[in-house]
Amino acid sequence: MLTPAVIRESSHLARLDSPVPAIGSRRPLFGLDAEALSAHMVKIGQPAWRGQQLAHALYRQWVTDIDEISTLPRKLRQALAGEGWAVDRPQIVQVFRSVDGTERYLVRCQNGNRGQEPGALSDSPADTVETVWMPDGDGGEAGDEMEDKELRPLSSASPDRATTKLRRISSQPVLGVDLPVRQRRTQGKNWARATICVSSQVGCAVNCRFCLTARLGLQRDLSAGEIAGQVVAVLARHGVEPGRDRLNLVFMGMGEPFLNYGNFMAAVRLLVREAGLSPQRMTVSTSGIVPGIERFAREPAELRPKLAISLNAPNDEVRTAIMPINRKWPIQAIIDAVRPMRLRPHERITFEYVLLGGVTDRPEDAKEVARLVRRSGLPAKVNLIAWNPGPGIDYVMPSPEAVNVFQEILAVAGVPVYLRQPRGRDIYAACGQLKRTIEE
Ligand code: SAH
Ligand code: SF4
Repeated sequence: MLTPAVIRESSHLARLDSPVPAIGSRRPLFGLDAEALSAHMVKIGQPAWRGQQLAHALYRQWVTDIDEISTLPRKLRQALAGEGWAVDRPQIVQVFRSVDGTERYLVRCQNGNRGQEPGALSDSPADTVETVWMPDGDGGEAGDEMEDKELRPLSSASPDRATTKLRRISSQPVLGVDLPVRQRRTQGKNWARATICVSSQVGCAVNCRFCLTARLGLQRDLSAGEIAGQVVAVLARHGVEPGRDRLNLVFMGMGEPFLNYGNFMAAVRLLVREAGLSPQRMTVSTSGIVPGIERFAREPAELRPKLAISLNAPNDEVRTAIMPINRKWPIQAIIDAVRPMRLRPHERITFEYVLLGGVTDRPEDAKEVARLVRRSGLPAKVNLIAWNPGPGIDYVMPSPEAVNVFQEILAVAGVPVYLRQPRGRDIYAACGQLKRTIEE
């Protein structure tokens, strides 16, 4: 029997698509794909290819203002602005830099900026999300055939990497955190590969007991433009060259992507088709939303990221205690939903496993996890994540010995297993630590 709280959650949880957010007088261009932009161009008497130019400017040249779109005649730019159109790409407004080079950003989503003057930033906390940049990744992609082949020696540390303490680079919302294009391209890069961790919702409705984001509850879904815009803002900040640089995206920030399915997948389409990123270098993590997994399994390979499942427990009993959503969609239902998915050559399903000291990190847990993964018959690997603490959350970190023993037991049982290095713990950027924070 479900408790009333779970029933209430469930109606939330069953919703996979959100309605398009109502935008007042402003009409954001960012978030529309080339097809939609071309259709609008035709509607206002322009050739369709003007829409392609517009898409190129938004997603490849990373313009933030209509006036920067030099491929469009000035009159057309003015006409668009006159109709209320604005670029409205999400903007990085605060940067926190960790001693390990990780950067956590507060990103303000202008698409939530309904009805305000052009250029004005929304003050609503529900319009702010967190995005993380991890130069050299976090080890989470290890074990992917493609990554193993491509792994390069780590880049030399940036000069301030070892010495920088947590410091807020900008305390007030700053509009100019992105560098001008020319400057970006000429700057030397101090990373060989990088991972961007993207949020899909503001807060989260799935009430995992060990996760700080859960404390926010669900504030709202992000639109496709708001999800893709976090990525483009970070590409612009670091001058990433899609197709040349080794860049991974993980949809593992705030929120449950499969409870905002339509917008999440629309963002993937924008990032693949318009921004030129590879879906094979993207991973989406879900807490196990079965209808979302079933839908995801039917997505075409050329647009489908890799899948990670937050297993986090050796059996249903423990999983339900730490992830109440397991009552609705238990472990076997999740595995059954994953099974029909047609994997690409060498692709594996990732099982993420958060090690909670004394709760999920015991040797007998490891043995049970090994049996569970092997019995599933799925080509899979396990990513272990030592629990990252957060204020007011009553778990303890696993001891380093427990982590080693756990990993060893899985490895000996023939289960590919990797340890995710915690990144940016000092700035609350590590897994499960994202909770919109506007420090004073
Ligand atoms: N909502 C999705 C994706 C975001 S959470 C999901 O749950 O899968 C990304 C990963 O961080 C999940 O595997 C989750 O189990 C893990 N996580 C959450 N809180 C954590 C914490 N405090 N320490 C370590 N990992 C955590
Ligand atoms: Fe939501 Fe994922 Fe945190 Fe669970 S672990 S509360 S699903 S963000």
